[in-house]
Amino acid sequence: MALTETVPAAPAHEGILRRQSLRESAARTYARSLPIVPVRARGLTIEGADGRRYLDCLSGAGTLALGHNHPVVLEAIRTVLDSGAPLHVLDLATPVKDAFTTELFATLPRELAEKARIQFCGPAGTDAVEAAFKLVRTATGRDGLMAFSGAYHGMTAEALAASGGAQHTSVVRLPYPYDYRCPFGTGGERGAELAARWTQSLLDDHKSGVPHPAGMILEPVQGEGGVIPAPDSWLRRMREITAARQIPLIVDEVQTGVGRTGAFWAVDHSGIVPDVIVLSKAIGGSLPLAVIVYHEELDSWQPGAHAGTFRGNQLAMAAGAATLAYVRANGLDRRAGELGARMLTRLDSLAAAHDCIGEVRGRGLMLGVELVDRDADADATGARPADPRLAAAVRDACLDRGLIVELGGRHSAVVRLLPPLTITDEQADAILDRLADALTAAVRTTPGPTGSSPTTMRGTTP
Ligand code: PMP
Repeated sequence: MALTETVPAAPAHEGILRRQSLRESAARTYARSLPIVPVRARGLTIEGADGRRYLDCLSGAGTLALGHNHPVVLEAIRTVLDSGAPLHVLDLATPVKDAFTTELFATLPRELAEKARIQFCGPAGTDAVEAAFKLVRTATGRDGLMAFSGAYHGMTAEALAASGGAQHTSVVRLPYPYDYRCPFGTGGERGAELAARWTQSLLDDHKSGVPHPAGMILEPVQGEGGVIPAPDSWLRRMREITAARQIPLIVDEVQTGVGRTGAFWAVDHSGIVPDVIVLSKAIGGSLPLAVIVYHEELDSWQPGAHAGTFRGNQLAMAAGAATLAYVRANGLDRRAGELGARMLTRLDSLAAAHDCIGEVRGRGLMLGVELVDRDADADATGARPADPRLAAAVRDACLDRGLIVELGGRHSAVVRLLPPLTITDEQADAILDRLADALTAAVRTTPGPTGSSPTTMRGTTP
């Protein structure tokens, strides 16, 4: 092309994406699989700079309990801005913080709330995980930690060491009750009970090589680990085992909290009362906020033992208090449970029609579809090898159809759905219609891992 010829201007969004890939770190994540440039959003819907609209089933990795820009959240933020209140206050007392803490305590299991202390830790979930570890180490004078295979607790050093992907770690790893890929080959309640017994024997066997730990951390439903709900009976066993041995139990509700699983807190399903609960994501109403709430007996910190500049985000506290109050007043936790159960039923029918779905599972509006090698034989427990290539193809096909989903799980082969708790029945149907269509298209175009020709539905050819 001659230099004098007019080059059509690339659409603005293409330039933005190109500059992002040139300037931002190679560690960027969602930006790679979701090449969109959001410019407007409301509820479930995001509008890109290219004018396309998407149904957002990622919800800020489970942050947006009320979806994007909910009116009560915007109103709460505007009220603080218009009031002239200081936006930066370190950890000083303010009416906004007081109201947030009161609202949060009203939602917590009563037994914990009555004797609770709260520590405002800093902006991210991982900060709160670090604080929880430091707290239990100070309180017990012990050092070791227990965590579970497949866990995800964050990206700072200690949180990462307690996560499933850790490479160098002194954290003792315990089996999580993953029904579909049960480490004991049994699955169900029996598999969960064997996992509990393994934990118990490590603690009680003086030659297990596991020193008495400062604490145990677990997720009631593993999120990034592939949407794996732990049975309530297993959670109760973990509570009994830790309580009987004076081991503080830290429950990470960063992703499961604020109604997501069909109860306000996921621990409410089993009725267990943790010693420490780690909270972030939805409690900030889409803005950064992270806290730990813990039993007052653990509060042996010295003044300043855990400090930080950004612990007083007034806008996040206001947005978070409004979110907590709205979920509570409108029973959105119950709604998430009911709608999630209906969506799971539809996903079950999808699984019945597609060989490539190993399992669908979830709790409330935290749903996962595990994609597996459709040609491989099942192992003794009925599980087949994961198919991450197909999962990536499904995610891309979803995006083509205006549906934002992300992947999780050990092999990034679990398609995860984390819609806002405010979605209507029609929106839930639209999400599942697009997912079903994307799955059919991806199966048609993606060969199986063992190189077989693509097939579509069970018993049919493309
Ligand atoms: N814990 C859990 C259960 C999480 O899902 C996450 C984030 N996905 C974290 C901790 C870390 O939170 P953040 O990314 O805000 O550090």
